[in-house]
Amino acid sequence: MLKDKVAVITGSTSGIGEGCARALAKEGCNLVINGFGDAAEIESLRSSFESEYGVKCLYSPADMTKPDEISAMFDLTVAEYGGVDILINNAGIQYVAPIAEFPLEKWDAIIAINLTSAFHTMHHAIPLMMKRGWGRIINTASAHALVASPNKSAYVAAKHGIAGLTKTAALEVAKDNITVNAICPGYVWTPLVEKQIPDTAKTRGITEEQVINDVLLAAAATKKFTTIEQVAALAMFLCSDAAENITGSLQSIDGGWTAQ
Ligand code: NAD
Repeated sequence: MLKDKVAVITGSTSGIGEGCARALAKEGCNLVINGFGDAAEIESLRSSFESEYGVKCLYSPADMTKPDEISAMFDLTVAEYGGVDILINNAGIQYVAPIAEFPLEKWDAIIAINLTSAFHTMHHAIPLMMKRGWGRIINTASAHALVASPNKSAYVAAKHGIAGLTKTAALEVAKDNITVNAICPGYVWTPLVEKQIPDTAKTRGITEEQVINDVLLAAAATKKFTTIEQVAALAMFLCSDAAENITGSLQSIDGGWTAQ
């Protein structure tokens, strides 16, 4: 379905981004993957996409807090592929603490990575998509783009921000055959979620098991985690021709969390 298309996916060395990269590669899409991690593991992931799916895959080490490095990621993309068709803004981090104790550097990092980087990537990608006359931009937002939880001020602010950015961008490019949508998952079992369990347990004075059952899954009506594959399948649908008139939307995939 996506043969010979080119996708840039930020934060795709792990979790949801890696799952989206795999789903796109399976459909023949060439990739630029990005994110941090062990160099040998990243190279093994990159080469496995090429060998398993017969696509081309480049790795960009761009740090999403650094506009110059984001620009270099698009220079690399254009030099290798001549343009871009799909952009998935997915890189994200989390930090859990009450506002009174929230470190300023964590606030700045979350806003930069989870929100501002998507402005920079779109700034580069939109003119390239306009040249090709087709584009799909998908922002990995969160249920926290729609509702709040205590102790996640920066994350909730960034995700509400990305919801607004998604709608604005969608209106700006609506007549250019480019769609812009956000996916809003509830909790997905990935390293990002695993890492916040001990902090949440400490902050709330409860066990890690209580964090899973009484905090993470408390709001999900289905009492289930969303899977990486389910999020990737939704991203694939948004890339399909069937989704060409879906734009500016916030797609919930949260087990009924935000229906309440
Ligand atoms: P993850 O920790 O598995 O992956 C995050 C990715 O972002 C990694 O590849 C990491 O290297 C990369 N990254 C972090 N800082 C970066 C930086 N400065 N520059 C470039 N890359 C950077 O997390 P995940 O759960 O897969 O999260 C992916 C996205 O999904 C995030 O935006 C997150 O907010 C969102 N999300 C996750 C959940 C969940 O429950 N896991 C729910 C809703 C939304």
